[in-house]
Amino acid sequence: MNSNHQNLSPTLIDPFGRRIEYVRLSVTDKCNLRCFYCMPEGFKDFEQPDHWLTFDEIERVIKAFTELGVGRVRITGGEPLVRKNIAELSQRLTMLPGLNDLSLSTNASLLTKQANDLFDAGVSRVNISLDTLNAKRFKDITGSDLQPVIDGLMAAKQAGFQPIKINMVAMKGINDDEFEAMIEFCLEHDFTLRFIETMPMGATGSDATDHYLDLQTVKKQLSRKFEFIAGVMPGGGPARYVRVKNTDLRIGFITPISQHFCETCNRVRISVDGTLYLCLGQDDKVELRPLLRSGISDDELKTILIDAIKLKPEKHEFKDKPNQVVRLMSMTGG
Ligand code: SAM
Ligand code: SF4
Repeated sequence: MNSNHQNLSPTLIDPFGRRIEYVRLSVTDKCNLRCFYCMPEGFKDFEQPDHWLTFDEIERVIKAFTELGVGRVRITGGEPLVRKNIAELSQRLTMLPGLNDLSLSTNASLLTKQANDLFDAGVSRVNISLDTLNAKRFKDITGSDLQPVIDGLMAAKQAGFQPIKINMVAMKGINDDEFEAMIEFCLEHDFTLRFIETMPMGATGSDATDHYLDLQTVKKQLSRKFEFIAGVMPGGGPARYVRVKNTDLRIGFITPISQHFCETCNRVRISVDGTLYLCLGQDDKVELRPLLRSGISDDELKTILIDAIKLKPEKHEFKDKPNQVVRLMSMTGG
């Protein structure tokens, strides 16, 4: 071992003093839905399977991250559950010493059959995308049926996931008359609700921004009907939470555009082809797959990760340069 490796820091600190302790891991760029703001209809430019990181490669990269102080991983996509054996991968990751929080983002349409296995594999928390409770509207937004998603959601509840967070992208003229109904739904089922501002991503950029809604205004409007008190949420990430008075319902507002949260960003993303993206809204990246396949040692891998974190940009520029991001959300791992 050379002296460089002996001095490896156990933590990843970027040039702006932010500690990186969270990885969002995309296990596929494919999806069985076609949310118009995420993946354009007819989109076919998916990664070749031989470019996908294998489970062995994923485990190796995540192990290196945990040895550098990363304690949290979220499995995402595309739709992660379209890739086979995600419960097996989950189990392998939860066995890693140092990983103390494994979560999953899913559209829930394939969750009914897999919820128990994922729970048993150690996935503790799930975030589920649900923009509407109206079947016709759901079809318009995603091109698919709502019922399998509701079934998947109930299967997650039955399996014991806690908390279950509903991610609702707030869109002007699409679902802005449904916020109260979604709050009532989450109250009824003991789900946490997170409203998300649309971000201009990839080819869907203008579609997404055409329906942009400032969540600061939405919050003000909702507070006329519901009494909000400042709240916190463990593992809350970028969402700013309130609690609805006299209930356990927490509502998060994810406001990348109206009030960005880059100064506290603690995360990096790995895409299905093993590209490490340092920011959702910038192109700074390190391609890990060729390095992994060239026979580097575990110590060399850790050095590469430490150096990569030095490339993390200060902030995204969704507001000032809305056409800058050419990747789709489903490619980077949302
Ligand atoms: N398929 C899974 C799902 O839908 O939860 C995981 C991947 S998806 C890309 C992750 C999250 O990104 C979803 O909650 C989705 O609503 C959100 N998302 C996708 N495109 C977006 C955009 N342009 N603006 C804001 N959120 C977006
Ligand atoms: Fe698929 Fe999720 Fe993107 Fe919708 S938001 S198209 S469910 S990856």
